[in-house]
Amino acid sequence: MFDKILIANRGEIALRIHRACKEMGIATVAIHSEADAGAMWVRLADESVCIGPASAAKSYLNIPAIIAAAEITGANAIHPGYGFLSENARFAEIVNAHGYTFIGPRPEHITMMGDKITAKQAVKAAGIPVVPGSEGALTTEEEAIAAAAIIGFPVLIKAAAGGGGRGMKVAQTPEDLAEAVSTARAEAKAAFGDDAVYMERYLQTPRHIELQVIADSFGNVCHLGERDCSLQRRHQKVLEEAPSPAIDAATRAKIGKVVVDAIKAIGYLGVGTIEFLYENGEFFFIEMNTRLQVEHPVTEAITGIDLVREQIRIAAGLPLSFRQEDIIFEGHAIECRINAENPKTFTPSPGLITDFHAPGGLGVRLDSAIYAGYSIPPYYDSLIGKLIVHGRDREECIARVNRCLGEMVVGGIETTIPLFQELLVQPDILSGKYDIHWLERWMKDQPSV
Ligand code: ADP
Repeated sequence: MFDKILIANRGEIALRIHRACKEMGIATVAIHSEADAGAMWVRLADESVCIGPASAAKSYLNIPAIIAAAEITGANAIHPGYGFLSENARFAEIVNAHGYTFIGPRPEHITMMGDKITAKQAVKAAGIPVVPGSEGALTTEEEAIAAAAIIGFPVLIKAAAGGGGRGMKVAQTPEDLAEAVSTARAEAKAAFGDDAVYMERYLQTPRHIELQVIADSFGNVCHLGERDCSLQRRHQKVLEEAPSPAIDAATRAKIGKVVVDAIKAIGYLGVGTIEFLYENGEFFFIEMNTRLQVEHPVTEAITGIDLVREQIRIAAGLPLSFRQEDIIFEGHAIECRINAENPKTFTPSPGLITDFHAPGGLGVRLDSAIYAGYSIPPYYDSLIGKLIVHGRDREECIARVNRCLGEMVVGGIETTIPLFQELLVQPDILSGKYDIHWLERWMKDQPSV
């Protein structure tokens, strides 16, 4: 097992990884930008290294500085968290080439799944159903027209290098097609430096259901059930729950087996998430994330399995500490992503947190690095905490989330807590009947600010 792990990330996930390390008796190294010097994950880590100025490009994405930090602290392994360098195959290669262990999948699998076109081809060949779409990248306008004629309108143009919901454009009719392709291409070029785009059928009422998988280096592969992440704004997740209110145990077991067989065939290592759209009883693959997900705690809540601990064990060459038949799904869990944003306009609200009170009680987990007196810097993502609540069933879980939201105090800044308070009393949410477009439809009907 490793003696010391460098955590190449910031915020709540840096603290989350630190906590798993401490429980395993592993020392931690925090890295931070100049803007994050006083942050909680830095204060709690055994050692810390400043790796550059506030700009992420010069700090959290600065590979030479991160490798140098590992060298001067004598870390054995690097955990990339999510975001930043977590899905950068080149970073994984560099980490390994310098004699450290990258806590994540093999670089070739990061590359394979990082391009959504090769990802779709690979999982399709391994038996996973995919969203009907173009065979590969669209190169000419004629190709786009021909592909849309087969798929049927409306269609969605997506960036091959896409992420964070960017580089996606809908074409409702043949007349919209040329513009959708060119705007998606331009957005993809600007956001990812790669203008390759492809086409998919635009599903009208799907749910976003994703399967958590985990594989060790001995060929053991398990799935840890699904998460339902259908509550989205601008194709980004807002609230996640497990299990999905839309699928039953038989459906879970069936798709779980398809996914586990495919992951075995691909030879994947570590944790990963297979994302699907689910409509009229059918699953359609959209992408695979080759890292820990923001929403991993809902799976931990219903299985009792610490995914970060398992990630570290796998990277250290140990086998999974459970088999598929040992995994029992208990109760229901919901995660609210709490952002430092105006709850109506979603304008970022960085700044000083004057007061802070964390909710607590049975089944309550708050993953956050904030505290009273902490100043949220304006340079990074606005996620400041995740409230994860577990209950014996969905109804108890929702009652508990509402109770927690009422207790939580984050003073001095605006947060999305009031949004969740409004959402978690809506009849459609209470009955679990919502699809990926529900939240945006609901927001349109709300009085404007
Ligand atoms: P990203 O990597 O940018 O997150 P994804 O492929 O994971 O992109 O898709 C993000 C979200 O966009 C999905 O959860 C869903 O809401 C929407 N989406 C993606 N593909 C489709 C599709 N073919 N039809 C309808 N919505 C889609």
